[in-house]
Amino acid sequence: MTTTPATEATGAAVRLPLRAGLEGLTPYGAPQLDVPVLLNVNENPYPPSDAVAADIADAVRKAAHGLNRYPDRDFGELRAELAEYLRVESGVTLAPEQIWAANGSNEVMLHLLQAFGGTGRTVLSFAPTYSMYPEYARDTLTAWVAGSREEDFTLDPEQVRAQLAEHRPAVILLASPNNPTGTALPLATIEAICDAAATAGPTAPDGGATACVVVVDEAYGEFRREGTPSALALLGRYPHLAVSRTMSKAFGMAGLRLGYLAADPALVDLLRVVRLPYHLSALTQAAALAALRHRGELMGQVASLRAERDALVGWLRERGHRVADSDANFVLFGLFEDRHAVWNGLLERGVLIREVGPQGWLRVSVGTPQETAAFKAALKEVLGR
Ligand SMILES: *Cc1c(COP(=O)(O)O)cnc(C)c1O
Repeated sequence: MTTTPATEATGAAVRLPLRAGLEGLTPYGAPQLDVPVLLNVNENPYPPSDAVAADIADAVRKAAHGLNRYPDRDFGELRAELAEYLRVESGVTLAPEQIWAANGSNEVMLHLLQAFGGTGRTVLSFAPTYSMYPEYARDTLTAWVAGSREEDFTLDPEQVRAQLAEHRPAVILLASPNNPTGTALPLATIEAICDAAATAGPTAPDGGATACVVVVDEAYGEFRREGTPSALALLGRYPHLAVSRTMSKAFGMAGLRLGYLAADPALVDLLRVVRLPYHLSALTQAAALAALRHRGELMGQVASLRAERDALVGWLRERGHRVADSDANFVLFGLFEDRHAVWNGLLERGVLIREVGPQGWLRVSVGTPQETAAFKAALKEVLGR
């Protein structure tokens, strides 16, 4: 099939009115290459079993009969099931009104910035961190400020407090465990930040103080090491705290596109104002509910992925690499004078990892034992040791 370029069809060159600030930008995304060993985007390497896939297909088939109607706009059943999942996973009891969901936690966080960010407002985070955060800021016309992390990628609460006082951000984004470093924040740090943030937001039109909304992005929360609690435990104390989760990582459902958060019902109600109507399709809701019914099986590999992660950290350290402590399903390691050459050498051997993070570091996701073995063998070859 051939298509006619629009300029040829109209006979005149037309300039599209691209918004200022978007000139020359390219879409975000890691390369999607067809390679045997994919360890680049922190997916769960285990696909759903035949039984789980069949149950999801069945749920979707049933939902298909009702596709002439718009879906349940407030997805009450799904919110209740997500609350139940969090109760089992973290021991924190939440009401369905405290849960919000969207097409990936990326959309959940966009909702947060649509509700609390905007022109004249600031979102604060700490680099190195998730590379999508500045894009949410850009897309909502919110100013982006990145403070820095300590040498070991932890956060100093005093430094955070100083940045809050200086910038009076409407939102602070804290990934814990952080991507790409794997660093989890101690609960005491999150508490200190929530305390400081209670009156650290932008000044209200009446001159009064507002809170800065503290977003703890726990996309990798299920992989946290023993004894690292979830920020969900703090929700009862802080109405300006939101804890974001996703079915994309530990749950092994990246293709489903379902992310969610837990917060005070009043905060959730504000997100309902900015969401598009019917943003969660009936098929997504049905598939997510079916997947949640199999949470035991789908989460069954988390313990072995954690063990695999710890073993990989140990192996890399034994070989003299610097490795960041990881509470996630990936490991940041280095330091390489020419990290691109190492990344490329691995790719030539069929192993795709991610060239991300501060200069000299690379990030590898934890795969199956076979994939990890392939990564180790390829790395030895590339480095010649
Ligand atoms: C992978 C990831 C997410 C998940 O995004 P989804 O839209 O839910 O797939 C969120 N935050 C961080 C830091 C991530 O690395």
